[in-house]
Amino acid sequence: MPKLENNITTLKMRIASACLAAGRDSDSVQLLAVSKTRNTDTLKRAYELGLRQFGENYASEAQQKIPILPKDIQWHFIGPIQSNKTRFIAENFTWVHSLDREKIIQRLNDQRPASQPPLQCLLQINISNEAQKAGISPENAPRLAQLIANSPNLNFRGLMAIPAIPEDKQALQEDFVRMATLLEQLKSIDTRVDTLSMGMSQDLEEAVNAGSTIVRIGTDLFGARTANTTA
Ligand SMILES: *Cc1c(COP(=O)(O)O)cnc(C)c1O
Repeated sequence: MPKLENNITTLKMRIASACLAAGRDSDSVQLLAVSKTRNTDTLKRAYELGLRQFGENYASEAQQKIPILPKDIQWHFIGPIQSNKTRFIAENFTWVHSLDREKIIQRLNDQRPASQPPLQCLLQINISNEAQKAGISPENAPRLAQLIANSPNLNFRGLMAIPAIPEDKQALQEDFVRMATLLEQLKSIDTRVDTLSMGMSQDLEEAVNAGSTIVRIGTDLFGARTANTTA
């Protein structure tokens, strides 16, 4: 699949030049392959081309895919979390980006197997203050961050956001900078805090400029998502 190979090369170049422009090391930003709706053959090809970090939005879809893919993949859960899916997430994922409820945090802590390292946790922030959007307001972040930090089977690592589609690049940049400021404030809660998950296909440059450490890329890696199916 030469297209996928080219896309990975292009994305690595985009990340490297955004880092250069921001005066950052190019290895300070990780590429997370957002694999929702992509089939396991596509994921295997991405794996063979060297990718190891994959992001899934739907637990039921991940349940089909994870068992038949290589064991050294690190899975990141990036979608809304239903209570009845927390056990699967706790047992199969390395990272969760989309925490925004106390009950889910408690369940993940209870269900994370003792044989595994702590689950790496990010709070999702509704940074553009949109009515229908998942995520907590910045004011609520310290309380939930403390709850995660106090949970023995969870590590509090930082924040994730999906900003509103901006009227202009300036508004977008401001959202990203507010995320970076909030992350700095939360470092007093846990010394492990070091992760900002922000930036997608359309806005990875702005996100890296503001301090993103994980960019979540679907479209510019695998192509446009056509159907809402795993086939
Ligand atoms: C789908 C999705 C992405 C990837 O978006 P693209 O625009 O396809 O790169 C990133 N983050 C989340 C939370 C998503 O749901």
